[in-house]
Amino acid sequence: MRAMVLERPRTPLVMRERPERAPAAGEILIEVAACGVCRTDLHVVDGELPNPKLPIVPGHEIVGRVATIGAGAAELTLGERVGVPWLGSTCGVCSYCRSGRENLCDRAIFTGYTRDGGYATHALADARYCFPLPQRPDDAEVAPLLCAGLIGWRSYRMATAAEQLTGAARLEALGLYGFGAAAHILVQVAAWQGRRVYAFTRVGDEAAQVFAKSLGAVWAGGSDEMPPEPLDAAIIFAPVGPLVPLALKAVKKGGRVVCGGIHMSDIPSFPYRLLWEERHIVSVANLTRVDAREFLALVPQAGVKSEVTRYPLAAANDALVDLRAGRLQGAAVLIP
Ligand SMILES: [Zn+2]
Ligand SMILES: [Zn+2]
Repeated sequence: MRAMVLERPRTPLVMRERPERAPAAGEILIEVAACGVCRTDLHVVDGELPNPKLPIVPGHEIVGRVATIGAGAAELTLGERVGVPWLGSTCGVCSYCRSGRENLCDRAIFTGYTRDGGYATHALADARYCFPLPQRPDDAEVAPLLCAGLIGWRSYRMATAAEQLTGAARLEALGLYGFGAAAHILVQVAAWQGRRVYAFTRVGDEAAQVFAKSLGAVWAGGSDEMPPEPLDAAIIFAPVGPLVPLALKAVKKGGRVVCGGIHMSDIPSFPYRLLWEERHIVSVANLTRVDAREFLALVPQAGVKSEVTRYPLAAANDALVDLRAGRLQGAAVLIP
């Protein structure tokens, strides 16, 4: 097999030939058809996340076909199309696992961070954390759903938590800060559910603003602008701490600001009055398998389409550079 490997943080990935390993009990070997490039991969490459496995093969939006099945992984079949997300496995016994919060598991293993991921021709995965995928849409287009889509969905569930708890005060106006892979999927879901989505992009990024409106946003502007109406909630996907006080300013009383990323630059201090009146700031960590099943079932109903830019596996460094520079519309996907 071939893989793009990070040997040390802050160095380019290198192509390596490796012997193909047979799956252990409970694992499957997947022939990778596509692997999405997520901002979290950039944080891994940049050494911004603690204690990665090194060397590591990044990539946690894996779409592929089951090539070999290890003992005890019988619920999947040879040749079946599966997706592998960020959550690689959990312990099943800690207090978080036992309370339906496996996303917070004390001993979770993460694909492309603490176990090898999908920037490769083949990948091993714990079968219990793989999801069967329908045969359409095509492999590249489904890849971004596995993290950008899932984390976006969990963030959205967090943003709409008040309406789920009380049944009152439906969330009507939602702000999305940072219009990359996650937002371009989530805007379609929110618009399909009849909500008004306000998209905030890098200042002056008119192409992203036009893109956001084409996918259902009712308004798009720079992240330094105030929306034309106060927001019920905002989700921040950009890893930019100063967006937190800006988003707090834009949400109404009782509103929520959800931070969807795994890493963010420092949040500057801000006056207490921005948080006052029961505004909330919350973060979203990882995903549960329930999130994944819910979201993957909703995708065809909502008619979600993802826009992707394809790169050959060997060009993984170019994809990361383009993501960092904000040159991508939608999501980057590697094709082995
Ligand atoms: Zn656990
Ligand atoms: Zn991700």
